[in-house]
Amino acid sequence: MVDLQPVVQSCGYNVCRGCSFTNIEFNQKISNEVEARQFLIAHGVLSCHALCEKCGSRVSADFDRNQFICSKVILVPRRGRANCDTSRSVFSGTFCGHMHLDLEKICFLVNIFLSNHEDLMEEAMFELKLSSPTVLDWFSFCRKVVADYVERHSQCIGGVGKIVEIDETTLERRIDNRESVLTEQWVCGGIERGVRGECKAFFVPVENRTPETLIGIVKRYVLPGTTIMTDCWKGYDSLEDFGYRHLTVNRSKNFVNPRTGAHTQTIQRLWVEVRRHVSSAGFRQEELSDYLADFIFRRMIPCYGRRRHAFWKAAATLYPPEHPLA
Ligand SMILES: [Zn+2]
Ligand SMILES: [Zn+2]
Repeated sequence: MVDLQPVVQSCGYNVCRGCSFTNIEFNQKISNEVEARQFLIAHGVLSCHALCEKCGSRVSADFDRNQFICSKVILVPRRGRANCDTSRSVFSGTFCGHMHLDLEKICFLVNIFLSNHEDLMEEAMFELKLSSPTVLDWFSFCRKVVADYVERHSQCIGGVGKIVEIDETTLERRIDNRESVLTEQWVCGGIERGVRGECKAFFVPVENRTPETLIGIVKRYVLPGTTIMTDCWKGYDSLEDFGYRHLTVNRSKNFVNPRTGAHTQTIQRLWVEVRRHVSSAGFRQEELSDYLADFIFRRMIPCYGRRRHAFWKAAATLYPPEHPLA
């Protein structure tokens, strides 16, 4: 367990600078609403203060009523002195305001979402006694947080002396509005070889595999000077014109090019894992990028406890709680 010395806010709540609880430790830590709230405030998901836009006062949260209520006495036209009375829920606009659920349940639901277990849906429905639409909805909401984190932390991969394998594959997805009909969706992906403890990879859903599409993606995600290994698909033929060293392997003949040693086995292995991760029932087109980002997020932060900390900080960044009362 890593629990850095926390910083204490003026309201008395701590600010977490880095935690890594095991599941057992976390379950003991969050056993009621008050503790769940402390955890969420420590990670910036909820705030104990907000500014009143009407009178400019700093208002403290009333957690008994889960409201910010401005009690400043102000001069009201035709009424004389009266309380400002501007109010809003402490949850509005925050991650926890997504859909009504007890704070402990939200914490445990996210915990299950972040775990490495096989059937997260079943586990969340059973453990928290929630319906399948509720769990589906929250999980897709969680994936938005993760996608935002991955977007903010993603950087170009490769560089001079580095090898990046690039390949495309098809994933099955639902045709929008037709739940039971599946279609294939192309995804272009790349991974840098020899990187330990980090995930230097990208996945992009694509409409086609033309040179314009594929070279455009490579230029966006891979640094010039990189040695790129691909199969013999013609979409990559002009890579050397864009400052890359390009080696190919003819996968219908060999797994490894006998002359150059080029292969794409790292990305082929990754596709197997990506397919397993992406919902086996298929996904809607707009959800695919989020599923792929979720796959990268778990590889970026393999430690479950650190992943929990990063998730909640990211939820606070995407849904900041400090917006004013108006
Ligand atoms: Zn933390
Ligand atoms: Zn006010």
